[in-house]
Amino acid sequence: MKGIAVSKGVAIGKAYLLDSARFCIIRHQIDELEAEKEVARFRKAIEKTKLQMAEIKKRAKKIAAKYAVILDTYSLLLDDDILVNDTIENIKKYKTNAEWALTQTLNNFLKLFSNINDEYLKGKKDDLDLLVQTILKNLIGHSQESLPDIQEPVIVVTHSLSPSDTIMMPKKFVKGMVTEAGGKTSHVGIFAAALGIPAITGIKGLTSSIVSGDQIIVDGIDGEVITSPTSETLQHYTKKQENYRKYEERLLVDIHQSAETLDGHQVKLLANIESKQEVKTLRKFGAEGVGLYRTEFLYLATSTLPKERDLYENFKLVAQEMNPNPVVIRTLDIGMDKQFDNARNSDEDNPALGLRGIRLSLANPQLLTDQVKGILRASLYGDVKILYPMISSVTEIIQANKIVEDAKNDLKKERIPFNEEIEIGVMIETPAAAICIDHILKEVDFISIGTNDLIQYLLAVDRMNENIAHLYQPFHLSVLRSLKNIIQSAEDTGKKVSICGELGGDPMATMLLLGLGKLDNLSMESRSIPKVKKIIRAIRLDEARQLANDVLAMSSPEEITSFITNEMRTRFPEDFDRDPSFEEKLDSARK
Ligand code: PEP
Ligand code: MG
Repeated sequence: MKGIAVSKGVAIGKAYLLDSARFCIIRHQIDELEAEKEVARFRKAIEKTKLQMAEIKKRAKKIAAKYAVILDTYSLLLDDDILVNDTIENIKKYKTNAEWALTQTLNNFLKLFSNINDEYLKGKKDDLDLLVQTILKNLIGHSQESLPDIQEPVIVVTHSLSPSDTIMMPKKFVKGMVTEAGGKTSHVGIFAAALGIPAITGIKGLTSSIVSGDQIIVDGIDGEVITSPTSETLQHYTKKQENYRKYEERLLVDIHQSAETLDGHQVKLLANIESKQEVKTLRKFGAEGVGLYRTEFLYLATSTLPKERDLYENFKLVAQEMNPNPVVIRTLDIGMDKQFDNARNSDEDNPALGLRGIRLSLANPQLLTDQVKGILRASLYGDVKILYPMISSVTEIIQANKIVEDAKNDLKKERIPFNEEIEIGVMIETPAAAICIDHILKEVDFISIGTNDLIQYLLAVDRMNENIAHLYQPFHLSVLRSLKNIIQSAEDTGKKVSICGELGGDPMATMLLLGLGKLDNLSMESRSIPKVKKIIRAIRLDEARQLANDVLAMSSPEEITSFITNEMRTRFPEDFDRDPSFEEKLDSARK
């Protein structure tokens, strides 16, 4: 099965089909008073499930009315007194937690159904089961998934994986990930690459053709999943896995040398992180700072809003660990693929164009205030900078700056010290910001280009949609022209410019990006740094400029992509021709 390779490497192991996983419910004994609270908690979970079902139904209606009618079954079951009343009775009678009481109700129902030989009613049994799993999920809290149940090395196979699922993953046991949904820049890929786990997204029909326990191979180099391999195939991929490991080891040999072209032009290579845990491994890959801290994952990992103090402590740790290198902390970029229960943006028809990024922060100023205060307090412990996401006008920058000023004044009143000169930058990831870059630059200390979103919005291609993944073309001329204009404008005003989207960490693009203009930093998933550095150290800037000029004269994305691919493959055969026989050729050449 072919998909989109989003994290390199080869994994061989047992499949773990996430969608078929269930919760393990434990019985807790409670007293009379607690029983009342448990009943209230259960009712709340029912209400929440009803809202979710209504939302699913709304979406289903857009596909076909018939599907929406099928979903009515769920709503009817939720209004069914038997399911609700029996569970409440169980809580009171057995004095137990709601989860266990609900499971008892379900089991009783299932027993009844098992004696009935009617296809229609058997279908109802599945509906009920699914519904109970959803209520359980709401009772337990959205951050607890069945992923932590994994106790042995597995390859996770699932339709889709939410950012909170990904966070809860027992990392030491997950050897590979494959999903049906998701495109080239989905967060699954970003996470997997950060952890060094091979991953593939966008494989249709995946979950129906794999069963938990099947032996599978995930080839994150060529984007293939192989099921039930023969011993010959297995041997081939074991070799490929080993070769890739050796290649990665070789890349690390000169990791602490600077990223400087043969003719002496330096670019700083920084890391993108999603959690403070990652910071410890950054130096190993040669990161010279954090160019993008995606803080939204701090919010997605819990069901309550993190407090100013939690945020401060988290940021302080990262700043201290990286000091004296820079740490760019991006304010909350919730929305689109990163939804959060407490933020009021889950009811949108078009979330990519909705209340996301800075828009959400400006609509909930307290969110931004708490976060900014945490960042300001941490600024004493390193070279900390603030970055606003999803900016589309100078007005938003001015409004956000006002909140930062107010936060500074509050801290001063409380006599809490911070770096008064803290730099503030913005992400350039909307066409509006790219086109009005001259005005934006006047309001900021630096800019960071978010190519993931910039490409999506420029090309009108949803970055998460696997059906149009082939149209998500980073080497589209409109993207390259925009990048050139943004980088050039920053250079003209003397403001620093970084690229922090996936393109910045794609070695295939490195030479071209350098050729587009004077880049100060490239920020990427840390494991990409060694390869990008290797390329920078092997090229001359005038060659890169020539390459960029050649490319900018071409018109079709396919022509540009094939030109770049050929050019890079010729220049760096070891790095781009990841044909497994390559290592053998190399070995025999050495001999
Ligand atoms: C981007 O859009 O390129 C980016 C770096 O931000 P995110 O992927 O978190 O949207
Ligand atoms: Mg973005």
